[in-house]
Amino acid sequence: MTHACQRCRILLDARFEIIDGQPACDECAPGLREELRRRQTESLSLPGGWWTRAALFGSGAALAGALVYALIFTGTGLEPTPLALAIGALCGIAARAGAGNKGGLPLQFLALGLTYFGMFSAYALVALFTNGAQHDGQPRDLVYAITQPFVSGPIGLICLVVGFFLAWRFCAEGKAGESAQQLWQRLADSSRD
Ligand SMILES: [Zn+2]
Repeated sequence: MTHACQRCRILLDARFEIIDGQPACDECAPGLREELRRRQTESLSLPGGWWTRAALFGSGAALAGALVYALIFTGTGLEPTPLALAIGALCGIAARAGAGNKGGLPLQFLALGLTYFGMFSAYALVALFTNGAQHDGQPRDLVYAITQPFVSGPIGLICLVVGFFLAWRFCAEGKAGESAQQLWQRLADSSRD
């Protein structure tokens, strides 16, 4: 079977390179390799204006999680501490989706900020719902909302750290168009090898 170069269509003999799944002649190969490399880095990096949508999506997730947290806390009197994990994961997934299923270091830092924002909002809503009632002799005020994510106890701190980790992981640079779920699956598969 004879092959033709993908660019100049010259017929190739037995020895030829395959670039991006297509044969290429010696003349065209360097240019095609360069093009492929550029296409791959472009599709991996965050698109322009990514942070607006990522921040919007992520804030939505953070606030939704915060509302559930505050409703359970004030409704039952029991703190739903493990929800911090879910808030971190949700913020990561939503931020990644907002950025067009692309990841990267800037998005990872945004996801960390969103996770903290979610936990801050949870305690701010608790303060609001309880009308600033006392907690451990301290009023539930703005300072309470700011500091509580870090001082709610050892389990709370562990859950927050895992939440941060999940947000970070879900926004890691992946393959082009890879959703958080696909990225997670691939990372899980590769860590098993
Ligand atoms: Zn060619």
